[in-house]
Amino acid sequence: MKRRPLLAGNWKMHTTVEDACHLAAEVAKCSAGLSDRDVLLAPPYTVLTEVAHVLQKSEVLIASQSVCWEEEGAFTGEISPAMVLSAGGTAAIIGHSERRQIFHEDHEIINKRFLGALKFGLIPIFCIGETLEEREMGKTFEILEEQLREGLAGVDIKDMKKTVVAYEPVWAIGTGKTATKEQAQEVHKFIRTLLAKMFEKAIADSVRILYGGSVKPDNVDALMAQPDIDGALVGGAALDAESFCRIINFI
Ligand code: PEP
Repeated sequence: MKRRPLLAGNWKMHTTVEDACHLAAEVAKCSAGLSDRDVLLAPPYTVLTEVAHVLQKSEVLIASQSVCWEEEGAFTGEISPAMVLSAGGTAAIIGHSERRQIFHEDHEIINKRFLGALKFGLIPIFCIGETLEEREMGKTFEILEEQLREGLAGVDIKDMKKTVVAYEPVWAIGTGKTATKEQAQEVHKFIRTLLAKMFEKAIADSVRILYGGSVKPDNVDALMAQPDIDGALVGGAALDAESFCRIINFI
């Protein structure tokens, strides 16, 4: 089954207002006319509105880098789905390995974020991935299954259609070490097979599974040629307009 490719840039904790507007304008320019794929940017919260303004005449989508499960209230440091929507966002990254590792977000918190995003109408981009130690111990599939089952607990089957999954091996994020196309394809296939067991085959066949981990202009084409890789979640290379534009324009 052919799924519409999604190329997403995660800007993490980078960009001033000025940098963000400049970068967003470059992405809008180089993605114009690409009608066979989706392009998405996840800027820091501080620049969501400005980036939305720059992108308003483009097709580029906007996501927040995380999201709270409540609509509003005493949650210092958090951002609500309603706030993301009002700033022009339509999606939220959830469960990024930096949230899991640095900020100790566990399955329960991640699941709450996931369900909260869906409840208020945001598309969750749900990140999973094993560490190097887990891979070397032969635990990759076990870890991914646990992350998927716990993170997606209680998700209604109809909502799964809207969900995007991102496989991001932790050992490949920001390290310059990319999973080989064979390694990535093997895991993507595993994820899709598991989603078919957890939900149903038609859903698993329609869910987009992105690969993330040192995606660059020189490896994107080979990764995107794999049957179960439907897009990329890009960190470092998304901060460089020329590199990200090449990635968006993968062949
Ligand atoms: C990421 O942070 O989601 C990521 C994949 O980063 P990088 O592309 O820099 O490895």
